[in-house]
Amino acid sequence: MKSTSSNLTAAITAILLPLPLDTIAKDPEHADAHPKVSPTEALARLKAGNQRFVVSKLEHPRQTAKQRTELATSQHPFAIVLGCADSRTSPELVFDQGLGDVFVVRVAGNVLNDETVGSIEYAVEHLGAQLIVVLGHERCGAIKSARETIAAKTEAPGHIKSLVKAIAPAVESTTGADAEVTAKANEVNVAKALRESAPILKEMVEKGTISVVAAHYDLDTGAVDFLKDAPAK
Ligand SMILES: [Zn+2]
Repeated sequence: MKSTSSNLTAAITAILLPLPLDTIAKDPEHADAHPKVSPTEALARLKAGNQRFVVSKLEHPRQTAKQRTELATSQHPFAIVLGCADSRTSPELVFDQGLGDVFVVRVAGNVLNDETVGSIEYAVEHLGAQLIVVLGHERCGAIKSARETIAAKTEAPGHIKSLVKAIAPAVESTTGADAEVTAKANEVNVAKALRESAPILKEMVEKGTISVVAAHYDLDTGAVDFLKDAPAK
């Protein structure tokens, strides 16, 4: 009886599932070939993983050789994180996630440039991720450098000046406040710019398909504070 029942379930499932389009079948990595995770669900998964990290009850999910093999030919990350390059802030670690879970873009100060925006657009368009987290953090060296350079009315050496230029609006809007306020302003500015200035993302945000949230990581506690500038839908 049991096998008849499961055969019947399989047959019904096969009938109900839409046939894949040729283009999708040929490209198993295409976003439409895999069920998507909503921004709300994605945010809940990240929050749960961060809670495990904070209390040191890690699951280290999806890191076995078997799971690595399963992921070898396609990926369907449920979230995108634009994080700082700081060695203490690895998103896979602070959110206790595994292979294939999070599409991570990292650059000092979690700032935008053509390549970081292009990477995020790729993950949304081709991989189907619907939540973008801009993850800054406590005691960020890039934020500190930008504040000091601007306060001294000087210029940072080499290409560091491009980071200072990108962070400058947050520094200028938080004069007199402490560095964490500047870091949070930068996180909010970057999230806002992704929502409003990147055409592909702007259209999907307006349709309610994707969400962009700003977040701040606490180096002392390990907790990620999701800022309230625009909650995930
Ligand atoms: Zn940093």
